[in-house]
Amino acid sequence: MSLPVPQPGILEIAAYVGGESKVEGVSRVMKLSSNESPLGPSPRAQDAYRTVTAELHRYPDGGATELRKAIAARYGLDAARIICGCGSDELIGLLVNAYAAPGDEVLFSRHGFLMYDIYARSAGAVPVRVDETALTVDVDALLGGVTAKTRIVFVTNPGNPTGTYISAAELRRLRDGLREDILLVIDAAYAEYVDRNDYSNGLELVQETENTVMLRTFSKIFGLGGARVGWGYFPVGIADVINRIRSPFNVTAPSQAAATAAIRDVEFTTLAKAHNDYWLPWLKEKLTALGLTTTDSVANFVLARFSGTAGKDAAAADAFLKARGIIVRRVASYGLGDCLRITIGLAEENEAVVAALKDFLES
Ligand SMILES: *Cc1c(COP(=O)(O)O)cnc(C)c1O
Repeated sequence: MSLPVPQPGILEIAAYVGGESKVEGVSRVMKLSSNESPLGPSPRAQDAYRTVTAELHRYPDGGATELRKAIAARYGLDAARIICGCGSDELIGLLVNAYAAPGDEVLFSRHGFLMYDIYARSAGAVPVRVDETALTVDVDALLGGVTAKTRIVFVTNPGNPTGTYISAAELRRLRDGLREDILLVIDAAYAEYVDRNDYSNGLELVQETENTVMLRTFSKIFGLGGARVGWGYFPVGIADVINRIRSPFNVTAPSQAAATAAIRDVEFTTLAKAHNDYWLPWLKEKLTALGLTTTDSVANFVLARFSGTAGKDAAAADAFLKARGIIVRRVASYGLGDCLRITIGLAEENEAVVAALKDFLES
């Protein structure tokens, strides 16, 4: 007799650890560790969430019809090709399970989102990472990493935890260089924050090809991380596959209501964007003035690199910030042990993090 044994690969997974939210002995913390919107959810989204509570005995609309229509209306898309998920995490998992078999390869770049690795292993597939150049996705490296076994390529654009992006032309060059049977998944979780005219969320590639998917989320600029809603735009054939395997009621009724109200509240999203537009360059500039190196982030966080000097490194900075109740994100699990990722917060939070780092570096 032996105990149940999980599928090969599963015991090699290091479970995902989210950004911390508590500090021992500190009652009021500033949480800048999970790229959440400092403005929180739209008041209209909160109201919509509450209106559903008396109906919680009812199953949700399994097709998320209103929500898909609202997303389609906002971005000029075909609602039939949108699928919503319990966060975009769920959609990443569904895509990997549908298209990568044991032994197949799932390709992404060095600092790609950890969930690609976790879902690949859980499907028995092999996660393959290729190098980035200057903390930015390198299209040639990705193309060079393709083998006969490659089934899926993930690109986070802009990247997390780097904040950098590749241009629409580079994204297209990647698609053009991949075999037709390879699924390209463009994870554009931070797309709403980007303000560069050579950036694209990849929508045109989804429209022009039958093997490219774009993923988006309500967890970032829409401030609904706790509601767990993501969505993707799919070619018809791939949408059909994912709709066959997803759980039928994967987005809860209150979450559908909140997300529908959030995407319709254009004014609130504009406020969240304007806040980021002001504080992102502000934080980069202040950190640079303190002698730290930052990437050219176009998202809602900054990646700051610390020197290797004992007592002044990223681990020491993290401990110093924590003692002041400021929680940022260590990114050693992404191979960036000398960096901290700092989410753009409220004005006083951004000011507090800069003041604390100044004290840390000058002490
Ligand atoms: C935050 C984030 C997501 C979104 O995850 P959800 O499951 O929708 O909360 C997806 N991809 C990346 C790279 C992210 O940083």
